[in-house]
Formats: sequence, C-alpha cells, structure tokens
Amino acid sequence: MEGLPPLKIGPAGVRGIAGRTLTPRLAASFGAAFGTCGGRGPVMIGTDTRPSREMVTQAVVSGLLSTGCTPIVLGIVPLPAMQFYVGRAGAAGGIYVSASHNPAEWNALKFLGSDGALLRPNRFAELLDLYHQGTYARVPSEEIPEIQVRGRAIAEHRRRIVEAVAIETIRKRAFRVAVDCCNGAASQAAPEFLRELGCSVIEVFTDADRPFARDPEPVAANLGELCRAVRAAGADAGFALDADADRLALVDERGTPLGEDCTVALAIDHVLGRAPSPVVVNLSTSRLVDDVAARHGVPVFRTRVGEIHVLERMQACGAAVGGEGNGSVIVPALNPCRDGFVAMALVLESLAQSGTPLSGWRRQWPDHFLIKQRIPCRQRDVARILRLVRRLYREYEQDLTDGVLVKRPDGWLHVRGSLTEPVVRVIAEGPTERDTRALLRPLAQYLLTGEV
Ligand code: MG
Repeated sequence: MEGLPPLKIGPAGVRGIAGRTLTPRLAASFGAAFGTCGGRGPVMIGTDTRPSREMVTQAVVSGLLSTGCTPIVLGIVPLPAMQFYVGRAGAAGGIYVSASHNPAEWNALKFLGSDGALLRPNRFAELLDLYHQGTYARVPSEEIPEIQVRGRAIAEHRRRIVEAVAIETIRKRAFRVAVDCCNGAASQAAPEFLRELGCSVIEVFTDADRPFARDPEPVAANLGELCRAVRAAGADAGFALDADADRLALVDERGTPLGEDCTVALAIDHVLGRAPSPVVVNLSTSRLVDDVAARHGVPVFRTRVGEIHVLERMQACGAAVGGEGNGSVIVPALNPCRDGFVAMALVLESLAQSGTPLSGWRRQWPDHFLIKQRIPCRQRDVARILRLVRRLYREYEQDLTDGVLVKRPDGWLHVRGSLTEPVVRVIAEGPTERDTRALLRPLAQYLLTGEV
C-alpha cells in the first residue's frame, strides 16, 4: 500500500486520508461544485463520529456558502436518517461526511440528490465536471447566507419506520437485543430506536466520543465483543452497524455471526412473505438470495456493485426489497437507500411474527461458504489482474458487467476493482469451505508467485 495515492473519486463518493489526500481545499471545492449544481437551494450536511469530521464539514460548508447555498447542519446523524430527511424536508440535496466502513483516518464525501438517494451517475458526472473546471457560481458577500442547524432527522426517520412495521407485535415480544455501533453515527440513535420497538438493549461500543473501538467494517472477525454480549445476556439477537449505519450484520441468539449476506436474505424472505415482487441485489451477493427468491417464486436481478446501481434497477422493475451482500437492505417505499434501521426493524418483525429464532431461520436454507479477500493494487494494475482472471478461468462462463464474474455450476468467483479503496476485491462462494478454496486456488497461486 505504501506510495499508493489513497484518494478515490466515484459515485460512492470522494474518499481519502483526511488532511493528506482529502484536504480542506478539496472538500471546499466539492462543496462549491455541489452548491453550483444545486442552484442555491438548501443543502443538508451530516457526519459520523470520526476525528476529522469537523475539519471536513466546515470546509464543505464554506464551499457551499460561497455559492449562495444555505447549509443545514445536522451534526452527527446516521446516513440513512439524513437520506430520509433530505427527501422529506425538501432540500436541494445533501453531503454526508463519512468514510463508512474505512478506518478512522479516512474520510469521504457522499453526495445526495433531492430525493435523498445517492446522486445518479449522470448527475455525479456533472458534479465532477464542474469540480475539474473549477468555475463555481460564487456570490457577492452580501448574498452569502447563514448556516441553519436542525435536529429532527433521527426522530422523523424513526417515526417513519415505526409506522411501517407491526409495532405492537414487535413490542409484545419484548426482545432482548445487543447492539454494536462501533462508536459511530448510530451510537445514540440505534439504542433509542430499539427501545422504541420495545427491546431491552445491551449497548456495545455506543460512545460517540471514542471512534472507533473496533474496525468499523461489520464482518464476523470484528464482532467478538458483540457475540460475547449476546451470550452473556441471553439476547435474542445481536446487531452490528458500520460507522454510518447503512450496513447491518446479524449475530444469532447463540452468539454466532450469521455473515453479512444473511441480512439482505432475511429481509427479502420477510418482505416477500407479504407480497411477491422481483428482487435486486449486486453481483457479489450470496446465492442464498436465489434460494430465498426461488421459494417465493420471484426472479432475482443482479447489478454492478454500488448502492445507486441497485436502487436504479429496483425502481425500474418495481422491486419492493433488495440490497447488497455487505449487510445492506433497501426498501424504496421507506427510504431510497441502504438503511441499517429499516433492516433492524424488518429482522425484529420477522422474529416476532414467525416465532423462529435467527439460528432456526438460517438452518432452513442450504449452506453457502463465502470468502471475501482484498488485494492491494494500484488503479493501473486492475485491468491486468482482470485479464489474468479471464485467462485462468477461461473454460467457465464469464460475466463482464462489473470486473469479471466467473460462473461455475458449483459456485462463483467475482473479481473487481474497489470503488472505495486502492484494492481489488475477490469474492468467491461454493457449497462448502473446501469448494470455495478450490475455486480460488488458481488465482491464489498466481498471486503468491508474484506473476501479476
Ligand atoms: Mg456504510
């Protein structure tokens, strides 16, 4: 990684090391570019808890003000709550300051449209164009507006979800739930939300003043404390959120992590139980979703990786539920984005209505063994690795929609350049660990011998 330029610009945001590559000047310029695109309408700004949040937020606010936009500052707020509130309150858009699952030294800007969804790729391209041209709509000093501060995002988002689920059925069960917010944006909002749903809550890493007590990525290896808390309290479930709270991983009542891909599969199973609808997930999502969709008799559509690609396809085909295998659940009727709070509510509603514990839900489906790896890689080497994958697996069917997806009858392998980090992501899945490792072997051997 040493010497690699850690700045990534793409529809998922502008992401870098705070102060080094994500500088105040860069943040102010993107604020000015966004303000220029937005035509002086009010723009909401929110953030997670990482230490550089004020530096980045103030720079973005400064850029917005210079173009005559009114910044509405929400402070520390979960990303999905802000996305809901942008759409609800009639803002021109929003900028969220968080590098999500990346470690604390990273930060990023995520750009939201007036509906609260991530900017569509064509609108993001316009923003990027403006940024590169550097010609912003600066206003004279007497037209620079005042900053507004508002605190209703979390409460309005919570109310919308509570109204949409079978709240009395959930409350009657009085679930005991452990929640791990990694001391991120949901540290206060998630425990409050769960209490509103009638749960007694065991809090793990909910101190927003101490980011981050664990690696923010909610993968099983980072959830030891949560698993212990579930077992110690005899909880019905453990919920783990990432720093901005759009991803949710589940721990079952025995204290065993279910794996991130189970979150979207369970949400899909539950929502389809009410009414059939197509399902949309990304190419890297576990085939557990296909098992679930098959039982409900509905098709699964797969898109490139990235929230906006999944959302656009969902809206085009009228999918009621979908998401991504990294713990992301999207229910467009509630919020046009990945929403860890919607996911928690659906899981609890499912547990309450079915009476089946989380481990029991997982046992009814076939096993799949998923391996996710990251290979540090300069941008210019991504194409070379992809060509290598095409050659190594040439006897199998390949889908080139997003990197290379190799399809075999007994499993699949997906290799693609990351949107958020200077790495190539490798994801493989087979029926057992042994099958999945066998699937990865040709690539692993080449990488170990240094031939890429
Ligand atoms: Mg996130």
